[in-house]
Amino acid sequence: MSATPHSEAAARVAALLAELLPGGRIGSVVAGEVLAGTGEELDLVNPADGRVLARFPDAGAPVVEAAMAAAREGQRAWIGLSAAARGRAMMAVAASVRRHAEALAELETLSAGKPIRDTKGEVAKVAEMFEYYAGWCDKLHGEVIPVPTTHLNYTRHEPFGTVVQITPWNAPIFTAGWQIAPAICAGNAVVLKPSELTPLTSLALGILCDQAEGMPRGLVSVLAGAGPTTGAAAVAHADTRLVVFVGSAEAGAQIASAAARNIVPSVLELGGKSANIVFPDADLGRALIGAQAAIFGGAGQSCVAGSRLLVHRSVHAEFVAKLAHAAARIPVGMPTDPATQIGPINNRRQRDKIAEMVQAATGAGATLAAGGACPDALRQTGGFYYGPTILDGVTADASIAREEVFGPVLTVLAFDDEEEAVRLANATPYGLAGAVWTGDVGRAHRVAAGVRAGTFWVNGYKTINVASPFGGFGRSGFGRSSGREALMAYTQTKSVWVETAANPGVAFGYVG
Ligand code: NAD
Repeated sequence: MSATPHSEAAARVAALLAELLPGGRIGSVVAGEVLAGTGEELDLVNPADGRVLARFPDAGAPVVEAAMAAAREGQRAWIGLSAAARGRAMMAVAASVRRHAEALAELETLSAGKPIRDTKGEVAKVAEMFEYYAGWCDKLHGEVIPVPTTHLNYTRHEPFGTVVQITPWNAPIFTAGWQIAPAICAGNAVVLKPSELTPLTSLALGILCDQAEGMPRGLVSVLAGAGPTTGAAAVAHADTRLVVFVGSAEAGAQIASAAARNIVPSVLELGGKSANIVFPDADLGRALIGAQAAIFGGAGQSCVAGSRLLVHRSVHAEFVAKLAHAAARIPVGMPTDPATQIGPINNRRQRDKIAEMVQAATGAGATLAAGGACPDALRQTGGFYYGPTILDGVTADASIAREEVFGPVLTVLAFDDEEEAVRLANATPYGLAGAVWTGDVGRAHRVAAGVRAGTFWVNGYKTINVASPFGGFGRSGFGRSSGREALMAYTQTKSVWVETAANPGVAFGYVG
């Protein structure tokens, strides 16, 4: 029997769980109840001090079975409601998220290590996601197609049924809301499996969904468990009709293969190695701030992080010097401190991976312009801190310029002309996002068209919104989340043919 976790943070997490989850215990949320896991005991570790915050047993196949049964019932009740009633229920979820916003943000900060200034914003965005899709519930309709026959032909966008969603640790409640809201708007039930490293706020969101007025029990279940056990059991379940995965390319490939074996489609939202391109004709002061926000926000643990800075050779030296000066001044510290802009890395394994990648890059000839270690003041905390790091003199074929680090590490490459900038931007297997900074409107559009990426910014970085489609090209995945396009991803189209002629002809089959 392991010792009970004990620290100030652990006590605070226990108090928040008592406020947010029935019984205050960590378990899977299924039809409004918290079910204890049946598998191996898992540790939740505080990224800010490396100490265990809480423990919980992996859900395992019996809990997955219960969630699937609840989803069947929940979805049947949900599609029995009018579209307007579904919209009202989703508005009730949004209101409940707003009512619990402070507790949710604090719980996210304590358990995921994200700065409180970031988690407050992310929780507010979750409410907006439910509000946005609440408005879509009674506007998701098909179309009438003018076929060259005597038929009325129309389409219906029908839900898949039960959707399994698997999410990572970097923005837990934000990603849960980002996927749950469009899925249920489209009429599906959801079984969500958040990362075993950061399940708490997703479990709380599951309860808020279940308890909101008008929401059927079991429509949204959240599993507390590990990927290869609980996640894999959900993907392979006979009731699963669609799998939506957000995470690494490696796990994504395994999950999409498992879904394919189940004859189930998948949407993959994977990682990135996004290029942030700076031309000398840009507002360089703004580009400097944008470049920092692009890579150092969320301690670089962001799928769209602008981790490759491509700077025109004529301004390269000065731009990097200013960036290094600014990076050394960004407040890195305890995530609960409102002044902190960069908190810890989420887990020890990821922090070690970042340190190894930086070491390998400098060993291969890159120059360390800033960072490259845990800031001195935070060494004694036991937390997984890593300072904002800039690697200059990187070559395009170096692995640090091609592979995702998922940490506060910027690689810098110089370019001579527009053609080279676009070529360098595309010299990675990923294609999630990118940006260009320029005062030349023609160049802005040429570069936006030339870079292979699902999202692209001109004179900005990282702006996303639930109303706009989001997703990857290439190794960054396929399918779209958010906006109207997410509703297409979460539905399947049915074509209905109705004969209208008084005396129909005898032709059947392909007509017209
Ligand atoms: P990960 O791939 O290790 O894990 C993601 C989720 O998959 C977790 O819930 C995990 O338990 C589960 N999982 C792992 N193996 C599984 C299996 N065999 N079957 C079922 N489930 C399984 O990713 P991570 O380390 O948690 O997150 C970091 C990665 O996520 C980065 O690559 C990042 O770029 C990516 N990411 C992408 C986006 C996006 O929208 N494109 C957003 C956030 C993060």
